[in-house]
Amino acid sequence: RAKQRGRNAWECFTDELNDEVSARMALRNDLQEAIEAGSFELHYQPLLDAGDESVLGFEALVRWKHPVRGYLSPGTFIPLAEDTGQIGPISEWVLRQACRDMCRLSAEGYGQFRVSVNLSPLQFRRANFLANLQQVLRETGLSPQALELELTEGVLMTETATAVATLHRLREMGVEVSIDDFGTGFSSLSYLKQLPIGKIKIDRSFIRDVTTHRHDGAIVQGIISMAHHLGLTVVAEGIEEPQQRDFLAAHGCDVFQGFLFARPMPLDRLRRYLNERRPRRIGAKDPLASAD
Ligand code: C2E
Ligand code: MG
Ligand code: MG
Ligand code: MG
Repeated sequence: RAKQRGRNAWECFTDELNDEVSARMALRNDLQEAIEAGSFELHYQPLLDAGDESVLGFEALVRWKHPVRGYLSPGTFIPLAEDTGQIGPISEWVLRQACRDMCRLSAEGYGQFRVSVNLSPLQFRRANFLANLQQVLRETGLSPQALELELTEGVLMTETATAVATLHRLREMGVEVSIDDFGTGFSSLSYLKQLPIGKIKIDRSFIRDVTTHRHDGAIVQGIISMAHHLGLTVVAEGIEEPQQRDFLAAHGCDVFQGFLFARPMPLDRLRRYLNERRPRRIGAKDPLASAD
């Protein structure tokens, strides 16, 4: 009987494993169809000047419009896409679409904004990354100064010669590079003094408890001070409470991002958001008079 139970347990285990494998395979197939059908959408979350809370630009965040499951957040498919190599075509689409959308906003008279695009480490390390980027900028007409690339610390942990050369080339081109999720990567800080990086984004996990946990407050204060001494701009992501904003403002944080100000939104809603913030702008549509 013991033997039988053991066998059942084993079968049960393999069943679970099979379920997991087949779920991943199904997702992978769905993702392939989505890539071919172009079922992705970019949402934009505003980045605000900490001084006057004016809009500096937006972070582009990809969503998958799944036929059955609705909008899927990147956390549900980006890691899989990185494993399967499907991240390549998704990344290229994101970059091109973000550049296009920014050009469109500027052509429509909303102003010049900078768009931040998250880069997968794989994409950054690809041999033709820079050539592809330059082609996208040429094709869309976006100025390199209007583009920012967000990298995670992990990318810089293995400071390969090509990665360093790529960063220098981006600086020459005028493309801004920021370190996303700063403080979570267990990486040495030495890259900050060696590499041409302009900005760090303090991870949301530090911001969450910045006013309630003494240590988080101390870490955030320390990061801001260190970054400023290195000549870096500091962004705080994940600001949800006015108290968090006030703490960050008091300690000199440069740029704000978070649900307190605005959530990520599709382009049409972003237009409305921009209209509502500047209701008396000449030529602007009256937001109150808009049909929807
Ligand atoms: P991230 O780059 O750190 O982006 C910020 C995430 O925090 C976004 O989640 C955003 O919606 C969320 N967020 C912003 N403010 C707040 C806040 O006040 N409270 C809370 N709770 N969350 C806030 P999202 O859109 O689900 O993206 C998750 C991650 O997926 C991103 O983290 C980024 O690492 C990755 N990602 C998103 N788009 C892309 C993409 O186009 N390419 C790649 N490679 N990765 C992407
Ligand atoms: Mg990011
Ligand atoms: Mg981030
Ligand atoms: Mg984050």
